[in-house]
Amino acid sequence: MKAFAMLEVGKVGWIEKDSPKAGPLDAIVRPIAIAPCTSDVHTVWAGAIGDRKNMILGHEAVGEVVEVGKLVKDFKPGDKVIVPAITPDWGSLESQAGFPQHSTGMLAGWKFSNFKDGVFAEYFHVNEADANLAHLPEGVNPADAVMLTDMVTTGFHGAELAGVTLGDSVVVVGIGPVGLMSVAGANLMGASHLYAVGTRPKCVEAAKFYGATDIINYKDGDIADQILEKTHGKGVDKVIIAGGNVDTFAQAVKMLKPGGAIGSVNYLGEGDYIKIPRVEWGVGMGHKRINAGLTPGGRLRMEKLVSLVETKKLDVSKLITHKFTGFKEVEPALMLMKDKPADLIKPVVVIE
Ligand code: NDP
Ligand code: ZN
Repeated sequence: MKAFAMLEVGKVGWIEKDSPKAGPLDAIVRPIAIAPCTSDVHTVWAGAIGDRKNMILGHEAVGEVVEVGKLVKDFKPGDKVIVPAITPDWGSLESQAGFPQHSTGMLAGWKFSNFKDGVFAEYFHVNEADANLAHLPEGVNPADAVMLTDMVTTGFHGAELAGVTLGDSVVVVGIGPVGLMSVAGANLMGASHLYAVGTRPKCVEAAKFYGATDIINYKDGDIADQILEKTHGKGVDKVIIAGGNVDTFAQAVKMLKPGGAIGSVNYLGEGDYIKIPRVEWGVGMGHKRINAGLTPGGRLRMEKLVSLVETKKLDVSKLITHKFTGFKEVEPALMLMKDKPADLIKPVVVIE
């Protein structure tokens, strides 16, 4: 089969590989809509997960089941499915402890284009199909549903990690596709004042659509100072980090009220340590919590997220700024993600 792969750090290209086979619990899926991710860019061009040779890229897909293992109960060839980016081993002790994303090891629930080949192929393998696939409901289009596999689940997880509750004032740092879904998630969870930090005009427009009440430009000066000024020195209840760098945590601690919480889903590619400002952290006694994590995956979460699209509580279509048709278009779509032009939020490639 044909596939689009990372040949080595800094290099991508088309390769031929054997088609994958399903074990008893697994499924083989043919993609019908796929999307490149900022994580693919980090994987290839920043060497974020170390060197990989001829590894098929991609972890965001909606597809059609072509084969299932003999123990799979709820899926059959021909079914249209949403495939979460994170496909844990549900019987692992980490899953039993409530952290499926770390099943069998830190971050190891993230398998596609990490520990095994990804979804930018004519066919790809899904472990534990009954626990990791979700049926695509009639009436939800595949391109929209691809946004659920990583962008929505990750962005919402930022809001979950911060523990947003009714009436909270919330800052979302970063309004790429992930941060935009943190804005939407925080909004659904009841945020009142919602400050979104970013600059690209298309993202700013979308942030307002998803519920941002104020936009903060990080190029106009320290974002903690800007937030403190807007809140008369009080700060906010929750901060969600979906952009920035290691120094963003110090800013987040500064702009947080005592008892507040930070939820971060940002990938940290540089810097060995995260500094916490001692005084603003209440000299160690400020009850300012920091939670950071990889999004959970699996079927139940996907089914719940798609139900938000079905009931029109969440419109993911505003994330898709560039639509390509045909498998070979995955290459320009990934390059677009790498170059991040001003009018880009998220590209999607529809194969069928
Ligand atoms: P983007 O690059 O599209 O968005 C980044 C955002 O951060 C932009 O809005 C950008 O602003 C803003 N930003 C950049 N620098 C700063 C700064 N110094 N201070 C404040 N804001 C800044 O990324 P994505 O939305 O695609 O992804 C966000 C992060 O989430 C990435 O690190 C990605 O790897 C990670 N991720 C994590 C997952 C998880 O499970 N934890 C899963 C998927 C992704 P501007 O408008 O100027 O561009
Ligand atoms: Zn992704």
